[in-house]
Amino acid sequence: MTDAPSPVVDDPDTGGFWQAAQRDMLAIQWCEACDLPVHLPRPQCPRCASDGLAWREVDGTATVYSWAVVHHPVHRAFPVPYTVALVALAAHPTIRLVAHLDGAPPLREGQRMRFFTRSDAAGVLLPQWAPITDSAEGV
Ligand SMILES: [Zn+2]
Repeated sequence: MTDAPSPVVDDPDTGGFWQAAQRDMLAIQWCEACDLPVHLPRPQCPRCASDGLAWREVDGTATVYSWAVVHHPVHRAFPVPYTVALVALAAHPTIRLVAHLDGAPPLREGQRMRFFTRSDAAGVLLPQWAPITDSAEGV
């Protein structure tokens, strides 16, 4: 099996996201001037044009916004089926992140998800999402 490519963890634009993941944390870029969460990462705030952007660690709870199950293999490193989901951060619902889930877990719109990290073959911790299946969720 071919290993999946590892992310570049020191990229000047996205490095803060990956560096936080190496500490088992989720981080989002933030405008320090107008207090706007900025996603996707960029060199300048889309609202106030400030270049004073920094990375903030955020709570790793989200909800499923949408998802699709992939059945057609596109790369040997990603065996099918797998699920590509768009998750919205619970504390900042306008921030949506793409998630890869192994297999085809049962999901529903609004399904609560939790952030965790998993090491790839090169030892890089990758951000991951998993459904919260606690029966206390009142599903
Ligand atoms: Zn701003």
